[in-house]
Amino acid sequence: FPGDFSGNRIQRQTPDALFCTVQPAEFEKNKLIDFNENLSEEIGLGKLEGDQRFLAAQDLPKNVTTFATAYAGHQFGNWAGQLGDGRAIYAGEISDGKKQTEIQWKGAGATPYSRHADGRAVLRSSIREYLMSEAMYHLGVPTTRALSISLTGEEVVRDIQYSGHPQREPGAVVVRTAESFLRFGHFELLSARKQNDLLKQLADYTIENFFPEINHDNNPEKYLQWFQAICDRTLKMIIDWYRVGFVHGVMNTDNMSILGLTIDYGPYAMMDGYDLEFTPNTTDLPGKRYAFGKQGQISHWNLAALANAVFPLIEDSEALGNILDRYGKQFWIEHDKMLADKFGLDEVLQEDERFFTEWQQMMQDLGLDYTIFFQNLEKPIAEIDIEFFSNAFYRDLSQKELSRLSEFIEKYKARRIKNSILESESLALMSKSNPKFTLRNYLLFEAIQDAEKGDYAMFFKLKEALQNPYKNLFPEFNQKRPSKYDDQTGCSQLSCSS
Ligand code: AMP
Ligand code: MG
Ligand code: MG
Repeated sequence: FPGDFSGNRIQRQTPDALFCTVQPAEFEKNKLIDFNENLSEEIGLGKLEGDQRFLAAQDLPKNVTTFATAYAGHQFGNWAGQLGDGRAIYAGEISDGKKQTEIQWKGAGATPYSRHADGRAVLRSSIREYLMSEAMYHLGVPTTRALSISLTGEEVVRDIQYSGHPQREPGAVVVRTAESFLRFGHFELLSARKQNDLLKQLADYTIENFFPEINHDNNPEKYLQWFQAICDRTLKMIIDWYRVGFVHGVMNTDNMSILGLTIDYGPYAMMDGYDLEFTPNTTDLPGKRYAFGKQGQISHWNLAALANAVFPLIEDSEALGNILDRYGKQFWIEHDKMLADKFGLDEVLQEDERFFTEWQQMMQDLGLDYTIFFQNLEKPIAEIDIEFFSNAFYRDLSQKELSRLSEFIEKYKARRIKNSILESESLALMSKSNPKFTLRNYLLFEAIQDAEKGDYAMFFKLKEALQNPYKNLFPEFNQKRPSKYDDQTGCSQLSCSS
């Protein structure tokens, strides 16, 4: 692919291949904003900070072949056919001898898979990806990571207008890393094309390199075990999303990692006030397919789409169906366990299921702040008091609602007393399950507004806070969303492709 250009863009199908070599666009005036030294050391890259041109995909050594991959996907429940890395370009992979890491630039120019878009990313969306992927990592949620963020020096035209943002926005490039960026959609593409040899080749590669727990020699159950392992990893990720209040916003199958990593930080948000129907994606359907409360169900749906794609390797619909059925049941078991940890309970008793349902109903009706609510419970039982909970209210509660909350808290205390573990153990459990810092949407909004004026103080302060999410480093951040931001996404319109 000849690289970047304006005017008529060449759109290409690559019918027999899963990738195409691509030259990044040229950026003459790139400027590094931040470099993630810890990650760089961790993946064996050392201190690359000096190479600011490389981080913006410029002046690459001649022996580096850069490429983009094709994938397919189901978008909002419909088969979307071939998609692909429309603005991600692979720099290659690095190995420290134990683990391999793939490296990509995001926003470094158009690829054959860009369709009608420009292959660019704006500073706003790049800051959102850079900070949130690292926030998720430090929260302990499986995720792709971010190595650097640079300004490209060019301006990018976007038609999304929201308060204070011009139509031309600064362009930026994020370097992101993952053990692998393979998605469900890569397998869906090969399967849809009926290229079963390539499908098998890609599955074998994936199992051998990223699923060491599966015996890949002479194992007739290999592909079935692999599908089970993908379900397990996906489940862990989704449960973690619920634990920290993350709403992905665009869980299309092309945005589902085959390794169970959170990928594609677009119209996501951390939930402030509890609402199962909350979605930050302003382009989601009226039924809010990707709302907070639907993420479990949608992950199940996506896994079923993957089961269809890998069927030619397994040819046993009953076995695949059984794994999918188990996923549905396992989801609730793991979900309850996760809630028990957040509440500091030592185990899930039969009666707890009702307790959790009651809690969920109450949270939904009262719309309490999810993060702050759990912090208020993270105290010795004798110190938990309804008096403190107004810090989690987004509106005035009626007398009846206050009584409901107070009754729930009494019930909670009675339940915690039944624990067989010590109070200190219970508090330790809560402390590692309940974040003290949440990268809320309004915080990102403020950091972005400042950054667009050249002031990165807030950006760096958030970066420090998100590296210690279970500590209360900045009490000013550890509060519900201020009332000047009227709803969870009121401060920014969020869609996919900015
Ligand atoms: P997403 O909704 O972010 O998963 O993107 C859907 C598809 O559109 C993917 O194939 C992306 O690579 C592509 N895409 C999104 N934004 C852009 C852009 N600015 N330029 C080129 N391709 C894009
Ligand atoms: Mg995507
Ligand atoms: Mg995206």
